[in-house]
Amino acid sequence: MTRKRPQAGPVQKGPTNRPMRVALPSKGRLSERALQLFEQAGLRPAFAADRALVASLGEGFEAIFVRAQDVPEYVADGAAEVGVTGADCVAESAREVEELLDLGFGQCRLVVATRDESDVQAADELPAGTRVATSFPRCAARYFEVLGIPITIAPVSGATEIAPHLGVADAIVDLTSTGSTLRVNGLREIGTVLESSARLIANPAALSDAGQRRIVSDLATAVESVIRAEQKRYLMANVPRDKLAQVREVIPGLSGPTIVEVLDSGGWVAAHAVVDASQVYQTIAKLKALGAEGILVTRIERLMP
Ligand code: AMP
Repeated sequence: MTRKRPQAGPVQKGPTNRPMRVALPSKGRLSERALQLFEQAGLRPAFAADRALVASLGEGFEAIFVRAQDVPEYVADGAAEVGVTGADCVAESAREVEELLDLGFGQCRLVVATRDESDVQAADELPAGTRVATSFPRCAARYFEVLGIPITIAPVSGATEIAPHLGVADAIVDLTSTGSTLRVNGLREIGTVLESSARLIANPAALSDAGQRRIVSDLATAVESVIRAEQKRYLMANVPRDKLAQVREVIPGLSGPTIVEVLDSGGWVAAHAVVDASQVYQTIAKLKALGAEGILVTRIERLMP
């Protein structure tokens, strides 16, 4: 990543005549991908110094780097107009922010777990008075309130898994993705509080201002186009002209394949189409069976249908 002096954004857009601010996770599981996504969307960060907590994103945007857990706070307060954080952090903050996009990474679940040897099979079997260790006290409290089970929360800020073994809690509410950390620590999942992934969020007041709403919406469109493009590939192949009907079935594309003349004797045309990345292997096999040649598959940077 290039780290150079921040360039002054040419367009002043924020509420106090400052560039529009994007709050991004400064470290941890979401930080790298979040920054990369903005870079891919055309907002390239320029840091004033190594480990700077502010970076220009060019074109009237700047990024501030804060903990993922604090992003909803900064966005709700209007210190930043938009931000990236986990849905779990948004839920726990209980602050009012607008969720614009599911960014499709940082998937995890907030779960209830208890010791392996416990007789309890599901969270709703936990008795009243259960002590629950968690760094998500609001989410945990809400979950058990809905179940109608009065519990005691033991707030912790990390290494939650150890609490049941130390006798300070009977169950935990914690994040997991594969479940392996829970298993390694002798714990078993008995309920899901919420499913999480990284989200693009916005300040509601910024969205009610027409000028800012347009900028935020353009930003969301750019980010979404990057995410969409990642699941697609652009495929080009020379195909026999008399097989075009079958080719169209194999690569329907977004609105039918694009057909380009090949300057040969007339028996061939080039067919171009956007295909699902997950289907590339099968698609190539089908095109070859139709006699296709010169097949080319490329990544797409952005896709706006
Ligand atoms: P950090 O604590 O800064 O690494 O960021 C944690 C955030 O990453 C959480 O709030 C989740 O949104 C997300 N995340 C994704 N997978 C996991 C996981 N397996 N455990 C904890 N957090 C995860």
